[in-house]
Amino acid sequence: MTTNISEAVGFHEVLPVHLLLQGIFLIIVFALMLFFNKKLSVDLFKEKSYFRYVLTALSLICVSVYGYRAFEPRISEMIEAYGFILDEEKPKDSDFKIISKSHKYDNYVVIVGESMRSDFMSTYGFPLETTPFISKMNKHLISNFISPAPNTTLSVPRFLSLTVDGKLQDHNNAVNLAKLAGFDTHWISSQGFSGESCSPAGRVARYADHKTFVPIQNDFVLLPTIEKALLDSHNKVVFIHIVGSHENPCSKLYGYPNNYRYNVGKVMNCYLATYNKTDEFVEKVVNMLKANSKSYSLVYFADHGLNFVESSGEYKIFRDPDIKQSYNVPFFVVASDIRENREYNVTRSAFNMMDFYASWFGVRTNLTKDDYDIFNEESDSNPLVVNYDFSLTPYKGKHDGVMASDVYKNMVAK
Ligand SMILES: [Zn+2]
Repeated sequence: MTTNISEAVGFHEVLPVHLLLQGIFLIIVFALMLFFNKKLSVDLFKEKSYFRYVLTALSLICVSVYGYRAFEPRISEMIEAYGFILDEEKPKDSDFKIISKSHKYDNYVVIVGESMRSDFMSTYGFPLETTPFISKMNKHLISNFISPAPNTTLSVPRFLSLTVDGKLQDHNNAVNLAKLAGFDTHWISSQGFSGESCSPAGRVARYADHKTFVPIQNDFVLLPTIEKALLDSHNKVVFIHIVGSHENPCSKLYGYPNNYRYNVGKVMNCYLATYNKTDEFVEKVVNMLKANSKSYSLVYFADHGLNFVESSGEYKIFRDPDIKQSYNVPFFVVASDIRENREYNVTRSAFNMMDFYASWFGVRTNLTKDDYDIFNEESDSNPLVVNYDFSLTPYKGKHDGVMASDVYKNMVAK
């Protein structure tokens, strides 16, 4: 319902070989089922047809088990997205009560990145220059930021909304908070493909005063809209939801140069090139803010990481909620009054984001902590993450998958 042929093909291109084989196995099982069911209807009341019942039942079990194992992340996304289609039409009002407000900046920008792991950024120590601009610029950066979930549909609304006792309250979100704080709000997205109204991000976006969803998954197409939004005279918060490094990264470049020619496979080379592209995108937005006479601040984070697996001598993408790298994302803040490049060596959970927005926008509310400092030196001791079934588990219990340093060790230029 929310995709097209080229995206469906692109999705399969990044998968490891064993999953593709499982897919082929599914098709064979399905063909067998069709064949035997046809026979079954003819022989239904004849003797010895029981074994066909058994075979059909077995085939069904195989289809269910393999289908679920191979495509669990996508299935959970589909179930949630479909739930939203059936959900109420009218957006619920927020429960925020503003106690006081005094904003620090005129222009705010929130960039929600996509599928970007911190360990592949040169900013976080990767030896190749994947994010040279972000590395250079003055900012406050958190060394170990933990995303709330391993996929977009679960993560984006939790990055932008309140979660109370493990339950998402997506009507108490950053867009509403910004509006109550007195800002004009913009939502600008290149993830329009998943539908304005039926994606979890779209549910937050619908509260914005101005919404732009471009139909093409090319982040650079958003730049003129962002520039226009920043130039108007209101004090504002601009939320930008980019496609970044989403699967298939090769199809997110749109002619952007890919300078990576290593022996680690096409998917990994493209993935690194999308980092260059996102780096340049952030640079362009920061330059727009600088060119404006107004004070500004920008936050960048990625919605989640990714898991890579080795498959036939290449690195392929396989979403895995049990891997730490599915949650290790970049987080940094740039501002007109930040004139140093500082890294805060702390572990921080994204479930603090609403407290962050409140203090960043300069408001005190009934639902957020007063004067919360996301850069405080005390680490969050036990960050939690959301599973596909919406339950919370400790990030600590996850294990390391393929790390960027492992990939780098195997890299030989072609
Ligand atoms: Zn995502």
